[in-house]
Amino acid sequence: MKKFFYTFGNGEAEGKASMRDLLGGKGANLAEMNRIGVPVPPGVTITTDVCTLFTERGSEETMQMIWSDLEKSIHHIEQLTHTIFGDKENPCLVSVRSGARVSMPGMMDTILNLGLNDQAVEGLAKKTGNERFAWDSYRRFIQMYGDVVMGLKPESKEDIDPFEEIIEAKKEEKQVSCDNDLTTDDLKALVTAFKEAIYQRLGEHFPTDPWQQLKGAIEAVFKSWMNDRAILYRRLHQFPAEWGTAVNIQAMVFGNMGDNSATGVAFTRDAATGENLFNGEYLVNAQGEDVVAGTRTPQQITKIGSQRWAELQEVDEATRASQYPSLEEAMPKIYNELDAVQQRLEDHYCDMQDLEFTIQEGKLWILQTRNGKRTGPAMVKIALDLMDEGKITEKEAVMSVDPAKLDELLHPVFKQEAVAKAEQIGKGLPASPGAATGQVVFFADEVAKYEKAILVRIETSPEDLEGMHLAQGILTARGGMTSHAAVVARGMGKCCISGAGDIHINYKNRSFKAEGCEMKEGEWISIDGSTGLVYKGMVATKAPTVDGNFARLMAMSDKYSEMKVRTNADSPRDAQIARDFGAQGIGLCRTEHMFFDGERIKVMREMILAKDVEGRCKALNKLLPFQREDFEGILKAMEGYGVTIRLLDPPLHEFVPHQEAQQRELSEELGITMEEIQNTIHNLEEFNPMLGHRGCRLGNTYPEITEMQARAIIEATIQLKKEGVDARPEIMVPLIGTVKELEMQVDIIHATAKKVFEESGMEVDYQVGTMIEIPRAALTADKVAEVADFFSFGTNDLTQMTFGYSRDDVSKFLPIYLEKGLLKNDPFEVLDQEGVGQLVRMGTEKGRSTKPNLKVGICGEHGGEPSSVMFCNTVGMDYVSCSPYRVPIARLAAAHAMITQKKRVNETK
Ligand code: ADP
Ligand code: MG
Ligand code: MG
Repeated sequence: MKKFFYTFGNGEAEGKASMRDLLGGKGANLAEMNRIGVPVPPGVTITTDVCTLFTERGSEETMQMIWSDLEKSIHHIEQLTHTIFGDKENPCLVSVRSGARVSMPGMMDTILNLGLNDQAVEGLAKKTGNERFAWDSYRRFIQMYGDVVMGLKPESKEDIDPFEEIIEAKKEEKQVSCDNDLTTDDLKALVTAFKEAIYQRLGEHFPTDPWQQLKGAIEAVFKSWMNDRAILYRRLHQFPAEWGTAVNIQAMVFGNMGDNSATGVAFTRDAATGENLFNGEYLVNAQGEDVVAGTRTPQQITKIGSQRWAELQEVDEATRASQYPSLEEAMPKIYNELDAVQQRLEDHYCDMQDLEFTIQEGKLWILQTRNGKRTGPAMVKIALDLMDEGKITEKEAVMSVDPAKLDELLHPVFKQEAVAKAEQIGKGLPASPGAATGQVVFFADEVAKYEKAILVRIETSPEDLEGMHLAQGILTARGGMTSHAAVVARGMGKCCISGAGDIHINYKNRSFKAEGCEMKEGEWISIDGSTGLVYKGMVATKAPTVDGNFARLMAMSDKYSEMKVRTNADSPRDAQIARDFGAQGIGLCRTEHMFFDGERIKVMREMILAKDVEGRCKALNKLLPFQREDFEGILKAMEGYGVTIRLLDPPLHEFVPHQEAQQRELSEELGITMEEIQNTIHNLEEFNPMLGHRGCRLGNTYPEITEMQARAIIEATIQLKKEGVDARPEIMVPLIGTVKELEMQVDIIHATAKKVFEESGMEVDYQVGTMIEIPRAALTADKVAEVADFFSFGTNDLTQMTFGYSRDDVSKFLPIYLEKGLLKNDPFEVLDQEGVGQLVRMGTEKGRSTKPNLKVGICGEHGGEPSSVMFCNTVGMDYVSCSPYRVPIARLAAAHAMITQKKRVNETK
């Protein structure tokens, strides 16, 4: 019989931190905290295996299987808390909490104060001598249970929560502004009203039997594992449904027992910047998620934090100290305890922790700890700081940074001049750094309608996740630095301002009022998540400057990686950006873009429209100086490193004008009749241009094109050599399927080079290689390698041709395929290792069976995607190539690959 329940409490635990797969992150850490002497209320964790059972066999059977264990577990809690579950006088109250392997905001919300009913509430009141507290707990319980388990939700998204509506009405009636100002009688009235609302709207009574309450709550957790939000979250983050969630049942501790009680959230370091500064928020006389939900203004834990907050919110020191004192000032003894615990936890886990705590009548309890979510810059800083503090090794520091998060260090920031001119309309807390501009949208499910949206909400909830993901940035009127919006945004690396109190949102009118203006849905605003300032209209952005931490991390990564990272760049400017990010060469320089500029496109068209070789050569001769100049520029920018230049690749049809006016202009300029022009254009049309007259097929049918390009490259290299520049061209023939196709191109290139050498009386080094992007080329790579100095896998085309998906048409079905799970990822984004990967592996192996030192790289979009980079490393590639801004990501991913997989196939260089 499998063990389904793991108890903890009183400094002992059956589970531990390493058991997170079975106990979920929350459960495993609750157990661990017990083991290391952190004060945690006792409880029990039901394993993720039970969730799997529940999904497979249904509720009845599962509940039967676990029932007697459940009874024993509750008994365990009763014994440690000296209370009795379901008792009228001395009731045992628990929370029911979900908790998967990784924290998942899509799942069930926690239920607190479970075990209360009309009798138990009286008992609790009597036992504690605190009637208000008892009724506050009871109304909270009904509210949470009614929402989460019974499903009483607002009727439409513009409506507020039905329970909140009742509370608001009560506050209105009593003329008070805060929940805490309601009297015991008011709370009693709320309980009655809540129960009525549930019965009226759902036709069901609120369950009074605690065991039934418990069963309902556990079922709700397991069911929530398969709800839409959870499924979406798993899809976004690529977790399998098989993992399941655990359920934690835990004795309640109460932060709502009066002014010597409180609840809060804390971070051992700053999750936005990484600064080593303990911080967090708390609320006196509050419970559970009050802090996160942001209905009251939370107070800061530390005095420094409180002062910083006051400055941002323009609260004067006297008001701050009297109305919003920090925990450090208000409850110094407890603060010291909390400070010790946070240090203890960070040292124990060797990472920044995000923890939840409750203070019940002067006693501190910790309810959760986990590795805190953080922004990319914070991730890098924390990794380096922990390393410098000697808490983690260099390897661990490298591994603790997620390559994909590096992207955030390169996010744009607002231009100083633009900010100076912009109209400021609001101010909030700098919850997650970055600059974002977009159209105002109030509902998460409408974000997708706009290309760039700023999601503006009173507060966010897990339902808003997808919209938050799609938005450029998030602005909330309520909530602090630990609000849902703030925490989630930092995790996503998305710009966010929270608690912008001067912004008054009206969902029904779809507008908000701010300093001196009203903004409607669809109007543009800009938000700065680093300063907390909101601006009207669009504010211009610029690329950020990267700091020393970034350079340090990169240097550390390079110690571990073996693969080089090159870039895909078509201009000296891009080449320079990539070089600054540490690119060592160009893996793909496309030449076609060079033909579009002003004069050039005309000459290009002249070449295409020429009737014979002579005419084409005449036009090509005019293109030659342009090309030479381009190549000089890019070879120079990448001095000292290889530059892979791809010969002309796209079908000629892409270069001719398609509008009549332009055709007429061309006709006049070249003295060719309209009819002739239109005929040629018509003749260039193809049914499947992607599989048509392109790539080396152009160079083999019009050898003079290859000749011109080869000449331009060699002449540029000679010129640079004269100037003392170390230029290293690698000429790449695209789209070959047979070795003969490559051979013919190689011959033309060598013959041309020879001619240029003779003319100039000077020789230079160059290589000639090919792209492997047609499956046949991969299958016959041993033969292809006989005439190639290098291979570069063009995985965009290779994916297209292996799947038989036209890249230009894939958007019609790919989203549906992803949704239905027919494909796990977009194969144009994440390399399909199982299929396309086989061709890559085989191509590499076969190529090197002919030429053991064959240089092999990848130049598709995949070259900057971490999991694909890992794969390239296993295959034994010499380099990956990606767009300039992804170079750092690829460098770090290449280091991760070496650290985690040690062995590389076919080590050559
Ligand atoms: P989430 O996964 O959304 O963070 P949690 O299970 O951690 O949900 O709980 C939500 C809130 O309720 C947190 O603030 C937590 O500290 C509080 N809470 C959970 N269990 C208890 C308990 N036994 N006593 C007091 N507060 C609790
Ligand atoms: Mg929650
Ligand atoms: Mg929590």
